[in-house]
Amino acid sequence: MQTELDAREFITSVRSVVRCHWCGRQGKRLTKGLCRHCNDVRKDLLRFEKEVLGVRAESEPHGRLVWLNQELAIARARKKNCIGWGQMLDDILAGHVEPLTLERAWFRPVQKSIANDDRSNHSREAALGSIFTSEQRQVLAYFLWEILGEQASHNRRNRVEGVADREILRQTDEDRAD
Ligand SMILES: [Zn+2]
Repeated sequence: MQTELDAREFITSVRSVVRCHWCGRQGKRLTKGLCRHCNDVRKDLLRFEKEVLGVRAESEPHGRLVWLNQELAIARARKKNCIGWGQMLDDILAGHVEPLTLERAWFRPVQKSIANDDRSNHSREAALGSIFTSEQRQVLAYFLWEILGEQASHNRRNRVEGVADREILRQTDEDRAD
């Protein structure tokens, strides 16, 4: 019973920490509510949006615009990715973390990033359900979110490039339709 309370108290303390509005990570110094990393993403996005508008207004905008559109799409996808990590934290803190969620959303990505293997592990899922209380699973999910979120912030650009490419294709199709 005592351990259950401890886990609950821990989650309460996690909730009370000042966090970045986008990624949810604890920020020592926040600018406009954002950690340094997210604020850099925000600034990149503003810069590319401004530059794209400027170059589009030129009479022959070609060459540089291709590169700029690529960078703009990446910046947008990075912002989305940052916010996504904050939403994951919100989900963890919102309530019960089911054994299956813990296994699929948190243990498997860790397994994949370390062992390059994301096969399911049913025995782990059962143990997560029988050994840990719902609050303790919340704490576990939170710790894994911290580790994976930190890792994601270091290679965010690589992570979003596929998303950005799809965005550019969509954009190009829309431009053609204009
Ligand atoms: Zn952040």
